[in-house]
Amino acid sequence: MERALPPSTVLLVLVVALASAAARSWVVQGSAMEVLAGCLEGRVVVVDPGHGGVDPGATGKGGLIESDLVLDIARRVKSLLEEMGCRVVLTRDGDYDLAGDNPSLSLSQRKVLDMRARAALVASTAPDVLLSIHANSFPAPRWFGAQCFYRPTHPASAHLAACLQRALAEVTRNTHRRPSSNVEHYLLETATMPACTVEVGFLSNPHEERLLADAGYRDRVAWALVLGLIYFFSGQR
Ligand SMILES: [Zn+2]
Repeated sequence: MERALPPSTVLLVLVVALASAAARSWVVQGSAMEVLAGCLEGRVVVVDPGHGGVDPGATGKGGLIESDLVLDIARRVKSLLEEMGCRVVLTRDGDYDLAGDNPSLSLSQRKVLDMRARAALVASTAPDVLLSIHANSFPAPRWFGAQCFYRPTHPASAHLAACLQRALAEVTRNTHRRPSSNVEHYLLETATMPACTVEVGFLSNPHEERLLADAGYRDRVAWALVLGLIYFFSGQR
């Protein structure tokens, strides 16, 4: 069951939170804090920072590494969500994979075991929502903008993707992309709860790589994901 909030209330929450962010503080006070707590309190969220260990993912020309970037954003999301009463489980909290200590495995074997271990962690946690965080890369450098991907394995995943995509557009002001189900991702295929992969931007776009290298922008991305969850759990579109 989702608890509905009027759009004006969510807008108030956004304004207060962004004002707090400008002051380098994410402490949201007064009635707005109560609204946030009421919406997210008690929710369980698994945040999956993609890659790690032997698999760094994509690397930008400026040297930003996907596995480092998405871990940083995942930690920011965790911190914000915990302030609002969520229980958050990260699938990794360092530069490692989950394939175990077996040096004879090939990279592809490690990736298979890593994905299975992440899926098992998600299943045993049984969260209300799964967010997997990645960064995009493409041969042509002109493409930019965060984008959410989902699979129809859970009927609410499309709604979750729409909420996150809306919040990313509103808060980062750097994406005109639409959610897409055109993705292959083991965690999304095996998830039994609403689940999304969020590509936070293109490391292959020099301007977006510079944005993502900035801690203030990463704060905005993290806040966008939290706002997207507020939209989702409050029944917003
Ligand atoms: Zn990735």
